Amino acid sequence: MKVYKFGGASVKSVEGIRNMAEIIRSQQDHLFVVVSAMGKTTNMLEQVVEAYMEHGAEAALQALGSVESFHIPIISKLFNHPTVGLNAVQPVFAQLKQELTMLVEDYDKTYDRIVSYGELISTTIITSYLREECHLDAAWLDMRQIVCTDSNFREANVRMDVTRRRLHETVDFNLHRIYIGQGFIGGNDRQQSTTLGREGSDYSAAIVGSLLGAESVTIWKDVPGILNADPRIFPNTVLLPELTYYEAVELAYSGAQVIHPKTIRPLENADIPLYVKPFAAPYEHGSIIRSVAQRHDDVPIIILRKKQILITVRPLDFSFVLENSLPRLFSILEKHRLKVSLIQSSAVTISVCVDHTRYVEDALDELRNYFSVSYNTGLELLTIRGTTPELVEQCTQNRQTLIEQHTRRTGKFLMFANEAG
Ligand code: ASP
Ligand code: MG
Repeated sequence: MKVYKFGGASVKSVEGIRNMAEIIRSQQDHLFVVVSAMGKTTNMLEQVVEAYMEHGAEAALQALGSVESFHIPIISKLFNHPTVGLNAVQPVFAQLKQELTMLVEDYDKTYDRIVSYGELISTTIITSYLREECHLDAAWLDMRQIVCTDSNFREANVRMDVTRRRLHETVDFNLHRIYIGQGFIGGNDRQQSTTLGREGSDYSAAIVGSLLGAESVTIWKDVPGILNADPRIFPNTVLLPELTYYEAVELAYSGAQVIHPKTIRPLENADIPLYVKPFAAPYEHGSIIRSVAQRHDDVPIIILRKKQILITVRPLDFSFVLENSLPRLFSILEKHRLKVSLIQSSAVTISVCVDHTRYVEDALDELRNYFSVSYNTGLELLTIRGTTPELVEQCTQNRQTLIEQHTRRTGKFLMFANEAG
């Protein structure tokens, strides 16, 4: 069996969904298909949560209008008999509205309860379309009941043992050729919805693939494959046809947005190849990630990680920072979900660069209990693998650099963001 993952951009329109159905139809294999919310639905649902938390149910229901008015026209055009699709999705919207009448709880928990509907809606519409209009043997799964997680809402950790058992109990390719499940979502042992972190559907696909022992996992994307740089930022990008798991992890970790950073590990552990293929041209090669890959040393890889903050701490008692303070610093960062992208130390200070998310303020407050804290905002971290002086010159032009780190092949440059960017 194979695992296919279709992201929000692939299923954001009628044409996209038809294309997806074509790709699925052209396969003879057993398929587990992981699907994201359509288009920008997750962002819209975040607005619903915002409205709900700040102004209550009525405001939330109003914000939900945009989610409905995005999906309904898609159903009307997609289905020859739109009532079929509308009848399928109507109960899901009804449940979501019901959720919005419940008591407001902790922010992250409420977020997961509501935002998970993006994927529930998309998979419901798509399964109904595949079954009723394309006559494909597709079964819908509620991944909240299958992907078992802890209660770390908004970035839940998956319990692989339980998830494996549930997958094996539920998925039977003698019964159906195709299973459709939501990416991004799971549930804790109290039947509460959880999510695996934004853009987490890739990770869901990797979990399913590794636990079911898939032959391969394919992520269908709106790019030709994995490029050596973000084409929105750098001109003259080239496709990397083959990468090792190691290179892919480094790439994702440095901020390349092509695959979610957690995706690689389960696949590496199970030695399952990952394809990243162009949704619009399914017969093209795309990129393959596996344990051995053809080298492409001559092609540099350039990654820009935006919205960074550099936090510098000095122990209040002037102790040597590397001896006494590291565990405390990292446990505070971990607690506030801040992921370190660069570390620099001296005798009595340590600086860490992290994504400037909404969790930063609380982390800074807590750090101030133990350290003297300073920070710089508005930064970007540029990573170049395969540095040359010309490339460095070209990519860092006129930018003030706060920290520069070099290893044999890789250079990291923490720079102030361009005014425009
Ligand atoms: N729908 C979720 C998001 O937009 C998960 C995903 O697309 O992977 O973050
Ligand atoms: Mg997505």
